[in-house]
Amino acid sequence: MTRRVVVLGSTGSIGTQTLDVASAQGFEVAAIGARRPSTDLANQARKFPDATVVVAGGNPEERKEFVSDLGRAVLFDDESISAIAALADSVVINGIVGAAGLSATLAALEAGNRVGLANKESLVAGGPLVTEALARGGGELIPVDSEHSAIYQCLVGEATQDVARLVLTASGGPFRGWGRDRLESVTPEQALQHPTWDMGPRVTIDSATLFNKGLEVIEAHFLFGFAYDRIGVVVHPQSVLHSFVEFIDGSWKGHLGHADMRIPIQYAITAPQRAEGIADPFSLGGVTLDFEEPDRDAFPALDLAYAAGRRGGSAPAVLNAADEIAVAAFLEGRIGFLEITEIVERTIDGVPWQAIDEFSDVVEIDREARSFARQLVAETAT
Ligand code: MG
Repeated sequence: MTRRVVVLGSTGSIGTQTLDVASAQGFEVAAIGARRPSTDLANQARKFPDATVVVAGGNPEERKEFVSDLGRAVLFDDESISAIAALADSVVINGIVGAAGLSATLAALEAGNRVGLANKESLVAGGPLVTEALARGGGELIPVDSEHSAIYQCLVGEATQDVARLVLTASGGPFRGWGRDRLESVTPEQALQHPTWDMGPRVTIDSATLFNKGLEVIEAHFLFGFAYDRIGVVVHPQSVLHSFVEFIDGSWKGHLGHADMRIPIQYAITAPQRAEGIADPFSLGGVTLDFEEPDRDAFPALDLAYAAGRRGGSAPAVLNAADEIAVAAFLEGRIGFLEITEIVERTIDGVPWQAIDEFSDVVEIDREARSFARQLVAETAT
C-alpha cells in the first residue's frame, strides 16, 4: 500500500496535522507545497529533508531569501504544485485553501493518484471536472473532511441501492439557538470561537453561518453521487457523531470519535486499512448526544447552498466565491454577520448561470463572482 504522501497547503491547519500524522506513523513525505515562502514552511522543509519543496507565490526577493535561508533547491509557481500532485504512486493530501486547490486535485486524479481531499472548492466549484478527472485518470478520491470521511467509512462494503439517505451532522456553530435579531450584531471575535473544532478562520465563520454545512452538502453530492433530496443535515452540538447513513432496511450506521482531524487524515492515507491512532482512545463516558433540526430562518445559508447545488453548473462556484469575499469583508469589520449570506444570495442572482465544461469556465466564473461580490461589499460597507 502506498504510504508516500504529498502535502499541499502544508502550513495550513490540515497540512500541519497531516505532517504530524506522517511523523507519528513514519509515512514518507515526498513533497510539501504552500503559497507563501514562510518561516513555517522552512521549518517543515528542515524537518523533512528529503521532501521536494514548492512555493506557489511570493515575490522574487522573498523567494531568493527563502532559498538562501533554506540552503536547498525549491520549486516555484503553480505548475510545480500540479507537478508534485502528480508524483507517481502518491497519496496527495490537498489542504490548499480556496479555488487554487482545484487544479491540484485535477492534476493528482489525472495522474491516477489517491487524493485525500480537504479542499472544499475542488468539489464545490469544480465538481463536474473532478468527477471527469476521476473517471479518466483512474485515481481515488477519499474525503478528509470529518463528515464526509464518516460517510465514506459507513459506506465501505455497502451497495448504493441499499442507501436511503446520507445525513451530515453540524455542530451548529457558536450561535446555535440565536435568532436573527441577536445575530445582527455578532462580531468577528465572537464568530471565530468555534465550540468543538479548531479550524482556519474562513471555515470557522462558515460554520457560524451554516454556510460550511451547505458547502458540505454539495461536496457530498459529488463525492457519493446522491441527489440533494437524499442528503440531510442534523444539528449535533457535541460533534461526537461525525455523520451517518440511513439504509433502506431501517438500519443506520454512524461514525463516532474524537473531533480530531488527524483521524480522517490518517484514514485517507491508510484506507481501506487502519493504523493505530495518534489521538488518545475515545470514550463515551460522560458524553450526552443531542440532536436538533437546523434553524433555516436564522441560518438561510444552508438552503441557499441546497438551491445552488440543485441548479448545478456555475451556481455552486458562484456561491463559494461570493462567500469567500463576504467572509473576508466581515472579518475586516466592513459588513455585518447577516450581510454575509445576503451578499452571497445577491451574487448568485446577479451573475449569469453557465455550464462548467472546462477548467477555464471555473476560473472565469470565480473571477466574475468575486468582482460582483466585491462591488456589493463596497455598496454595503458605505
Ligand atoms: Mg466538516
